[in-house]
Amino acid sequence: MLHPLIADPSATRHILKKFKLRAVKGLGQNFLIDADIVRGIVEVADICAGDAVLEIGPGIGTLTQGLLEAGAHVTAVEVDKKLPAVLKETLAGYENFRLIEGDILKINLSELMPKPFKVAANLPYYITTQILLTLLEKDLPATKIVTMVQREVAERMTAAPGSKIYGALSVAVQFRSEPRLAFDVPPESFLPSPEITSSVVVCDVHKPPFDIDEDFFFKVVRTAFAQRRKTLLNSLASFGREKLLASGIDVKRRAETLSLEEFAALATALQK
Ligand code: SAM
Repeated sequence: MLHPLIADPSATRHILKKFKLRAVKGLGQNFLIDADIVRGIVEVADICAGDAVLEIGPGIGTLTQGLLEAGAHVTAVEVDKKLPAVLKETLAGYENFRLIEGDILKINLSELMPKPFKVAANLPYYITTQILLTLLEKDLPATKIVTMVQREVAERMTAAPGSKIYGALSVAVQFRSEPRLAFDVPPESFLPSPEITSSVVVCDVHKPPFDIDEDFFFKVVRTAFAQRRKTLLNSLASFGREKLLASGIDVKRRAETLSLEEFAALATALQK
C-alpha cells in the first residue's frame, strides 16, 4: 500500500483542517513538515527493519511514518485525546504500529518496553528535561535515544565541565550515555513555527562509567548545582564539612568545574 507523505506543509494543513485541529501550545505541539528532517532523524537513529522504537508524542504521525517506512516496530505514546482518530487514518495500513494513549511521564515504561529499544521523538518542549531523565533511568533497556529538543537544551546535554551551561542535566545525560549534537532544525521545518532553533541529539546509551550508589550520586550533583555560584564547601555543607575536606577535591571549586569522575569521588567520600 502506498501511503501519502505526511511530512509536507500542505498535507499537514489538510489533515489539521479535516479533523478541525489546531496545534495546542500547552502540549508543545509543533508538527514537523519537512521530509528531509524526518529522513535525517531516521538516519541518525540508525533504524533497521525490525527495530523496536518508542516514540513520544506522534502528533499526526509525521515522524512515525518515517520510522515505519524504515521497518521499525513503533510504540507511540500520545496524550492528546484528539489525535488517536487522526493517527488511525494517517497511519492506516501500517501493521508495525502500536498507539498507547496516555502521558509519557505516568506510564510504566519498563512494562511497556521490556526488551532493548531505541527512542526517536520530537519532544514536547514543556517537559523535555523530565522526559529525558525518565528515559535515562537505570532499569530501562533503551540503547539509543534520539530526540529533537530546543538548541539550548541540546547544548546543555552535551556541555563539558568548565562551561557555563554544564549542569545537572549534562551530568545525568553523560553518566548514562554518550551524547552528540547531530544537526540543527530551523523554525520553518514546523507548523506552527516556534521562535527558537531546535536540534537533534543522539545519545548512545552505555553503562555508567563507575560503580556508585546512583541515588546518592545524583543527590550530591543536584545539591551542588542548586547553588552553582557557591563553592562546594558552601553548597554541600549539609553533607558534612569534615567529609568534604577529606574528599580529595578542592572544596573552593564550583560544581560547574567538576567532571563526572570527580563528582563520583566526592559522592563516595560524602557517603562514608
Ligand atoms: N511527532 C510529531 C511531529 O514531529 O510532528 C509531534 C511532535 S510535537 C513537538 C509533541 C507531541 O507530544 C504532540 O503530539 C503532543 O500532543 C505530545 N505530548 C505532549 N505532552 C505529552 C505527554 N505528556 N505524553 C505524551 N505525549 C505528549
